[in-house]
Amino acid sequence: MKAIFWFRQDLRLRDNPGLTKAAQMGSVLPIYILDPHLDKVSRYWLSHSLELLNSALQGRLNVFQGKPLDILLKLKKEYQIDRVYWNRCYEPWRIEQDQEIKKRVDSDSFNGSLLWEPWEVLKQDGTPYKVFTPYFKKGCLQAKPPRYPLPKPSKIDLIPSSGSKGALKVSKHPFELKGKVGEEAARQKLSDFIKNKLEHYKEKRDVPSAECVSRLSSHLHFGEISPHEVWHAAAKWGQNKNVESFLSQLGWREFSYYLLYHFPHLSESNLQKKFDHFPWKWESPHIERWKKGLTGYPFVDAGMRQLIQEGYMHNRMRMVVGSFLVKNLLIHWKVGMDHFWELLTDADLANNSASWQWVAGSGADAAPYFRIFNPITQGEKFDPEGVYTRFFVPELKNLPIKYLFKPWKAPRLVLEEHGIKLGKTYPLPIVDLKESRDKALEAFALI
Ligand SMILES: Cc1cc2nc3c(=O)[nH]c(=O)nc-3n(C[C@H](O)[C@H](O)[C@H](O)COP(=O)(O)OP(=O)(O)OC[C@H]3O[C@@H](n4cnc5c(N)ncnc54)[C@H](O)[C@@H]3O)c2cc1C
Repeated sequence: MKAIFWFRQDLRLRDNPGLTKAAQMGSVLPIYILDPHLDKVSRYWLSHSLELLNSALQGRLNVFQGKPLDILLKLKKEYQIDRVYWNRCYEPWRIEQDQEIKKRVDSDSFNGSLLWEPWEVLKQDGTPYKVFTPYFKKGCLQAKPPRYPLPKPSKIDLIPSSGSKGALKVSKHPFELKGKVGEEAARQKLSDFIKNKLEHYKEKRDVPSAECVSRLSSHLHFGEISPHEVWHAAAKWGQNKNVESFLSQLGWREFSYYLLYHFPHLSESNLQKKFDHFPWKWESPHIERWKKGLTGYPFVDAGMRQLIQEGYMHNRMRMVVGSFLVKNLLIHWKVGMDHFWELLTDADLANNSASWQWVAGSGADAAPYFRIFNPITQGEKFDPEGVYTRFFVPELKNLPIKYLFKPWKAPRLVLEEHGIKLGKTYPLPIVDLKESRDKALEAFALI
């Protein structure tokens, strides 16, 4: 028997249920079809990841560009394929596409990327949960525990092919990904996290300079490691506050996919309809300043510059810069979401849209709209020594901590002493915090 295994968001050999099944059934033609929705930074990651996967498959990975149904039908004929296998994805456009393919091609799909299938976790009345804590604690943790990861298939009989590899080429990027991408790098990162960071996770996960988080998000997005592998690696350290806190972050990832599955318009429109009347702006000169990390609020600017420089931003910073955009600048959350989509290596439709709706207050279980992060006190609390901010905003690196998050309050002499000219070497704030906060609350009161 001959099978196609279609790699999608599961670019790994271990714990890959679809691939394992295909390998058991007979000889396998491994393929990848380029996803037209990916933006440049995540394509950069993807191109490295596919190269490594190709090596792990002895150079036999076939990469295509085009309509998946046409490609599968053509390959089926060319190689006399009996069945096609893949692991499920949950983006609405993929679900629709897969349903069409299933009608025309003999195929089986598997769960390779979620701990709990979204349709299996429902409230007693059969409707989906909308609030995280009951979803996770009741719906997930009281259901079947996540399955144990599968080993790498002991043997894959690969079909020789002449498939295209050319579709992979992408342009260079300002940051280096060599050694950071792929299944082996993901496993290494996980083991380093478990060994050195997990025991401090709860206390330090919110401190961006502590680097006490796993940085597994891009690996999880591309499926270079499975959430089952990550879950069990952490869960075996027992029930304590650090393990629980980490597992609940994996729970938030599940919840995002769950929301996207049950509310497929998640990336398009407000989950709470009343926000359709909120006077968010789509255009403003402030948007460019926010994107470039030139708002005049050093903690916000540090986060935005980390995004540009690393294709990644710490979770605390994503919340701070997000709140600043949608609440202090009154810009629509989709503007922020689209910008993140363009620049994050972990850009993920479910996590990105669920998180932006959470930040904006328009989501299912969102931060209340009136909770507006203050970028000064957030900086003082989560970057108390200023290590993170000084690193990404070097113009202010010598400013005493007292003024670091509010340089406009520093006496002229102090600024001069450190070579800072506000409005020249570093911007003055683009909005007044109190005024913009009051405006946001007024707008909120109207809906
Ligand atoms: C406005 C905004 C946009 C975001 N966009 C994305 C995105 O496009 N892609 C993405 O993967 N994450 C996104 N997140 C969630 C979160 O910021 C990242 O997953 C996290 O910072 C990744 O770092 P880490 O792997 O070190 O996380 P860790 O703290 O080590 O967490 C482990 C894993 O849990 C998951 N996770 C952690 N926090 C969250 C969360 N709040 N929501 C959902 N999953 C979570 C991730 O898969 C992460 O890799 C966004 C958050 C916000 C506030």
